[in-house]
Amino acid sequence: MSALSELNQQIALCRKCDIARLRTKVVPGEGAEDAAILFIGEAPGWHEDQQGRPFVGQAGQFLEKLLASINLKRQQVFIANVIKCRPPDNRDPLPTEIQNCRPWLDKQIELIKPKMIVTLGRYSMARYFPGKTISKIHGTAQKQDNIIYFAMYHPAAALHQQSLKKDIETDMLKIPRLLAEAVKVEEVEPSTAGGQQLNMFEV
Ligand code: URA
Repeated sequence: MSALSELNQQIALCRKCDIARLRTKVVPGEGAEDAAILFIGEAPGWHEDQQGRPFVGQAGQFLEKLLASINLKRQQVFIANVIKCRPPDNRDPLPTEIQNCRPWLDKQIELIKPKMIVTLGRYSMARYFPGKTISKIHGTAQKQDNIIYFAMYHPAAALHQQSLKKDIETDMLKIPRLLAEAVKVEEVEPSTAGGQQLNMFEV
């Protein structure tokens, strides 16, 4: 069994939050275990909770279309969420829930070793771009410890607002070039774990 599958088993036993009692299925995340790109959404919704899989509802269909626009299928990337259990009535995740779930996401990142982390929406953005506003930083990236962090709107929000939809489509198209840059940087400059270098750049 892979280390990620073992981790999923541990996640399925997690009862740190009250919402664990309400879930139908835990939604750890899924995709290629060595994915170059990790997408992080917010929290499972009704469909995700039923199936135990991330982004399988309307937002997921839109995410798949966005991926197709850069010639990717969902199986080629990894898709996870900030929290692994569905909040009741799709309310926003609570700070304690985000904190409780954080070690699971950290461990997933450690095992997958993505070259790029794409945040979908405000909650995952807050983790890597603290204090920033999504309307200002969507479509921009920062690099730290050899990982490119790229902020995008949440597909569910973009689905219902025409202007955001254009933005998210445009932002998605920036990913291939950023990823190519990430690989190029790695070739000449091996990873310096723990390095503090932080470059902000607009693309
Ligand atoms: N929205 C999310 O943030 N995550 C999902 O898995 C589905 C919808």
